[in-house]
Amino acid sequence: MTVKLDYVWLDGHTQKNLRSKIRFEEIKLNSKETLNLKDIPRWSFDGSSTQQASSDNSDLILKPVKVAKNPLSSKNENYDSFIVLCEVLDTDGKPHNTNTRHALGKLKKNDIIFSAEQEYTLLDARTVRPLGWPKSPEGETIFPLPQARYYCGTGDFVKGRNFIDKYMNMLVDAGLNVRGSNAEVMLSQWEYQLGNINAVDLADELWISRYIIERLSEYFGMIISWEPKPIPGDWNGSGCHFNFSTKKMRDGGYDEKYASVILDKLEEDHFTHIRYCGLGNENRLTGEHETCHMSEFKHGVGDRSASVRIPAACVKGDNFYMEDRRPAANCDPYEVLLSLSKSIVSGHEELNSLKGQEVEVVA
Ligand code: MG
Repeated sequence: MTVKLDYVWLDGHTQKNLRSKIRFEEIKLNSKETLNLKDIPRWSFDGSSTQQASSDNSDLILKPVKVAKNPLSSKNENYDSFIVLCEVLDTDGKPHNTNTRHALGKLKKNDIIFSAEQEYTLLDARTVRPLGWPKSPEGETIFPLPQARYYCGTGDFVKGRNFIDKYMNMLVDAGLNVRGSNAEVMLSQWEYQLGNINAVDLADELWISRYIIERLSEYFGMIISWEPKPIPGDWNGSGCHFNFSTKKMRDGGYDEKYASVILDKLEEDHFTHIRYCGLGNENRLTGEHETCHMSEFKHGVGDRSASVRIPAACVKGDNFYMEDRRPAANCDPYEVLLSLSKSIVSGHEELNSLKGQEVEVVA
């Protein structure tokens, strides 16, 4: 069977970018009509063009780590299409120093389940301004109505719905764990949610979903902005909130004591977490626009001005989870989920040592 493979990887810029190139191969599909990872060959690329190597020693290796159906490719009777997410390795087979996935994959197995709320802004590629934002005939910058009616809006209070509908279908067709989508507080700012899965799988799906939306935007004359604060002033920034729960939280429900141990750990490690929450996040975490100031750690029930929110419904008996509101839209989820997981796991270990018990929730 001929298959078209989009090899996708992360480059070495401080703000990581997606890179991809295409290859045709003869590979047998498995019983689920997809590919087994072991059948997909490794490939090489020019690391000197991605800030990952010097030109006199430029070859780097792409190691396939996740495969998804490629919803961007129109149905072709001659081949099936797949997206192949890759880790970058040195030629000796060791993880390249820009390979942030490797460390997350090596983390001790645990039972933490995450979901992500990925926000972003649709820009018009001609004006490089949010889609549908007005411009005067003289080209002066003018602004739409102040934000108040755009969140989950309809009709004239949202822009880009045709694009969003297509994108949602594509996430489903790719087989990702998509949970939903909504229009956000700033006009042309949107969100989609992925989960509830383990850290590595979620981070992989986030990068694959970012690849799909960036590729789709090319056909629509749009640009996807992951900027934490795309428009200065009285406009909401874009985050990538992570919700998490441990087995104990899911099985046992709300437990104030348990929550406080985890929250103390998150507070202790706050500035380590902040380091991985995205470039330019200081422009977003100002204490305004549903954020907590970057310099402090605050938690609260139903509090959207907190760093970590405990949903009010959890306290009343619904499934217990917490929401980390600090990460920005442009974060590297491998880094965020590694630092967050470490703190949660150490919270468990502390709790269990206090009780003199075996670690029960972390396998
Ligand atoms: Mg949101």
